[in-house]
Amino acid sequence: MQTCRAGAHLVRLAVLLAAAAAIVPALATDLTCGVCGKAITGRYVEVDGKAYHPQCYEQHRAPRCAVCGKPILESRVVWEGKDYHPDCYREAIQPHCAACGKPIEGQYVVEGGKNYHPACHRSRSLKCVVCGEPLEGSYLADGWGNPFHARHGKDLLCPFCNRVMTVSTTHGSFISTANGMRICGLCARRAVARRGEAAAIIGRARRRIRDLFPVPEDSFTWELVDKLQLIALELPGQRPGDELGITLGERMRQGGKTTHQIHVSILSGLPDWLLEAVAARR
Ligand SMILES: [Zn+2]
Ligand SMILES: [Zn+2]
Ligand SMILES: [Zn+2]
Ligand SMILES: [Zn+2]
Ligand SMILES: [Zn+2]
Repeated sequence: MQTCRAGAHLVRLAVLLAAAAAIVPALATDLTCGVCGKAITGRYVEVDGKAYHPQCYEQHRAPRCAVCGKPILESRVVWEGKDYHPDCYREAIQPHCAACGKPIEGQYVVEGGKNYHPACHRSRSLKCVVCGEPLEGSYLADGWGNPFHARHGKDLLCPFCNRVMTVSTTHGSFISTANGMRICGLCARRAVARRGEAAAIIGRARRRIRDLFPVPEDSFTWELVDKLQLIALELPGQRPGDELGITLGERMRQGGKTTHQIHVSILSGLPDWLLEAVAARR
């Protein structure tokens, strides 16, 4: 593990722009050049109260860029006692981020002799939960914040809890014997596939919503089904495989009385917390 240190690269902008030379049209006729001493007619450069022929200024007075050696006629960067064209400074002197390659302004982090934007350094030290390689640039994260490379695909997400299914995040994944789907180890541990266990959870869900949606005991039936059975029950127009439970209602007339029968099919092998939520919604 390499140690990191933080630094700051701050160039005062006031210094940056202080030496901008102004080229102004000549108004007076008695101006003489601060370099050659001759009279100035036409345009001239004024710096610190002195006037120069533009050519004389450029050749003899203008600060020279410590990178390219050419005169600096407009704004300059002063860094550690040397003058630079802003572009030369940015390309050659300013620290560049070893992750994204862009120049660094302000705070930066040094690791292994390389400079990084703090944000780039943070994402560089993030490791993919699938392959363990560093995550640089853009990446995906599951609903629990586990980051992973986009190249691994979204099929890795558990259909129930939405976690990336890996050994480190979910103790791997399993094909559920109850419903035939690939689910994560955490959801597999809490899977409810036995009718007795499901009955207790569905009863709890019904008691929870009883006041909002009273359903008479004898008008409600339910069953646990696997994935293929559930898809077979889906109505046309539904996206196949999205539902975890399906409700079928039936209105029956007996004599003058109308009764409503509700039958709910719920996916077998759901983890208990999800079964209760699905049952309540149904
Ligand atoms: Zn001159
Ligand atoms: Zn330069
Ligand atoms: Zn960067
Ligand atoms: Zn990866
Ligand atoms: Zn899961």
